[in-house]
Amino acid sequence: AQISNHMATAELQALDADHHMHPFSTQAGFKTKGARVITRASGTRLWDSEGNEILDAMAGLWCVNIGYGRDELAEVAYRQMKELPYYNTFFQTTHVPVIALSARLAELAPGDLNHVFYAGSGSEANDTNIRMVRFYWAQKGKPDKNIIISRKNGYHGSTLGAMSLGGMSGMHAQGGVVQNVHHIDQPNWWAEGGDMTPEEFGLERAQQLEKAILELGEDRVAAFIAEPIQGAGGVIVPPETYWPEIKRICDKYEILLIADEVICGFGRTGQWFGSQTVGIQPHIMTIAKGLSSGYAPIGGSIVCDEVAEVVGSGEFNHGYTYAGHPVSAAVALENLRILDEEKIIETAREQIAPYLKQQFEALVDHPMVGEAKIVGHMGSIALTPNKETRAKFAAEAGTVGYICRERCFANNLIMRHVGDRMIISPPLVFTRDDVDLLISRARKSLDEAY
Ligand code: PLP
Repeated sequence: AQISNHMATAELQALDADHHMHPFSTQAGFKTKGARVITRASGTRLWDSEGNEILDAMAGLWCVNIGYGRDELAEVAYRQMKELPYYNTFFQTTHVPVIALSARLAELAPGDLNHVFYAGSGSEANDTNIRMVRFYWAQKGKPDKNIIISRKNGYHGSTLGAMSLGGMSGMHAQGGVVQNVHHIDQPNWWAEGGDMTPEEFGLERAQQLEKAILELGEDRVAAFIAEPIQGAGGVIVPPETYWPEIKRICDKYEILLIADEVICGFGRTGQWFGSQTVGIQPHIMTIAKGLSSGYAPIGGSIVCDEVAEVVGSGEFNHGYTYAGHPVSAAVALENLRILDEEKIIETAREQIAPYLKQQFEALVDHPMVGEAKIVGHMGSIALTPNKETRAKFAAEAGTVGYICRERCFANNLIMRHVGDRMIISPPLVFTRDDVDLLISRARKSLDEAY
């Protein structure tokens, strides 16, 4: 029989467990408990094969900024696929969707970030960044300036290069990392701030960058990469002192600053880019996810004039078959048009974010919640057995978070957990009613897990 939405859920789940290898999962688990089969989506809601309506407070994997079910994107993809389904932009050719998208991104990105090198995903784009900054310094006669500094618990993707930039020790342990990447500590005051005030701690963590540069040698360090607000590490909002100090240090030692905007970009923090929210002007920004609201795979690096000029003065031997794919580019452009013309980012920032913040941060009154923080439409709560000491739960890391996540799922709410933090990243089209439903289902789930 043909496999379709009409098959019994148990049959679909059995086939899935037999043949589909799930990322970031223990595959054997799907044999005992099948994966939930998602069959359709609209706005901020998903439906599963049993007909349950689920509130998606994660926008898929932080990407469906515009919400589900926008026909315009489907129609643009259909038209583009008929007209020019594929032709890459290597060597001697280009095409209109990629020209239009690049010009639009140059308008939207702050300062002189005017040039786009495309990729199929955020991971690929970060791999590009590693090679591009090393090539940049080699072109400037400094081939030894090739170390990239990043942060523990940051996430930059799953390819070997991007994973090495990331600071996830569990990933490093499975197969090792590339050379010349150095990690400093993250600005997670709640978990690691000890007796310091958030302001003191923010400065201390930023100054670790300076210490690392001095230890490694100013002539060896090519770039620093970080997310304006760490996402997959648990939505870690840095203290206000952090980014100005990082900026000062990068300027002082001539270190390229790469802002990984894969999550923060395209409205998630209330501005087009997270760099604008935290007040930095990077040399390179990594983009993906919200660029197409997840409707088509596309990522890239937006590069400033000077870096583009130096890189462009030689042949940069790098590129991907699907970089600047016409269908993805056309979908991304339409997504940007809708975000702009429907004022989705402004509406989210001005009409929803204040209410979301008030309601979400009030979760701190729950006996198990020690910290609740949100910037724009990305937020997290820290779970703790003791709010005063900011203690961690004694059980294996992540257990309580895992239980909360499972309770949310059973209550038809998608929130994620990272260790003992529960996180949200809702579509930017979340309404006040969605916020109310999120909070009531989150409270119910926390109560059940308590
Ligand atoms: N950078 C950040 C900040 C991310 O959150 C992610 C994915 O979650 C990536 C890079 C990798 O992007 P992709 O999964 O598209 O390869």
